[in-house]
Amino acid sequence: MSKTYVVIVESKDGKLRQVSLEALHAANLLREDGDNLTAVLLGHQMDDTAAELARHVNGQVLVVDHPELQAYQPELAFEAAMQALAALPDEPRLILLGHTAIGRDLAPQLAARLACGQISDVTAITKDGDGISFTRPLYAGKAFEQTRLSDGTGIVTLRPNNLPPADPASAAGTIVPLEFTPPTPLSIILKDVVRKVSGKVDLTEAKIVVSGGRGVKSADGFKVLEELADSLGGAVGASRGACDAGYCDYALQIGQTGKVVTPEIYIACGISGAIQHLAGMSQSRIIIAINKDPEAPIFKVADYGIVGDLFEVVPLLTEQFKQV
Ligand code: FAD
Repeated sequence: MSKTYVVIVESKDGKLRQVSLEALHAANLLREDGDNLTAVLLGHQMDDTAAELARHVNGQVLVVDHPELQAYQPELAFEAAMQALAALPDEPRLILLGHTAIGRDLAPQLAARLACGQISDVTAITKDGDGISFTRPLYAGKAFEQTRLSDGTGIVTLRPNNLPPADPASAAGTIVPLEFTPPTPLSIILKDVVRKVSGKVDLTEAKIVVSGGRGVKSADGFKVLEELADSLGGAVGASRGACDAGYCDYALQIGQTGKVVTPEIYIACGISGAIQHLAGMSQSRIIIAINKDPEAPIFKVADYGIVGDLFEVVPLLTEQFKQV
């Protein structure tokens, strides 16, 4: 019997989020001949975004476009997602979302309403025989758990940057607009205050992250890291030590109580490598540590280490990368 795979897609400023394209790739990996793929897009004035999405979806694109969905509001987005799922001809086998602020909010609501299982923060998917297993890190990345979903619908959130994105050339999806009747919201957004705290690249999706700790010593010190990140097309992150010291905004915090990142390259500058920090970055593909203390624990997880003063090393690196 054919199965239906659903991806709840996120967009930001009209652009599809990379992790949603990775979720579409995951769905493509899992589906067999005859299985259906549906992408659900929620928002307002989504025509261009939906057209772009359709280029990545070999199936249907359900678009719930409504002024009330302009900004993310949990109960409205949840209701819109439920109405989209109700429009499907059969129960989905799997609903995939990004392990983002929105995905982490929406997925458990859906799992509760659909009375189904959820596997969060998945970093790898393996298809073996007729089963699918999902890998997720535990204990700040010190252990990995392999989990399976029982029969019926299941929900999975995917950690960004662990799978390739769906190929845009391979698909031509059908766009299906859906009517949306919003419920009376429990809260009303009066005003959005957006404080731009980091550069052009989204920290959780950046391929390269240059991160600073208490060793950076001041807000001014972070400018040196921003220059390196700019020269590499990366984003700037921070340890909680640096945030607590007021050197940068908490939006940059990486770790157990901050963001989780899995870039191709993570450059830790003046960060000691506390377990709570490692929880947010130890799955990075290549870790480079710059620290003047050769005994700093960060060197235990680093692939490359530079023992030295970051204020000497980082500008030298920036200079070299600018020449590439
Ligand atoms: P430090 O530990 O002070 O390290 C500074 C490093 O800079 C040192 O290794 C030093 O050798 C080096 N250094 C100094 N000057 C230079 C220089 N000029 N050049 C090169 N190196 C230099 N932390 C997080 O990061 N993220 C979290 O999400 C998080 N959550 C937490 C949750 C809980 C419940 C608790 C209790 C703690 C949490 N922490 C978190 C805090 C964590 O335990 C550490 O205190 C914090 O990560 C330390 O930050 P740091 O490495 O920047 O500072």
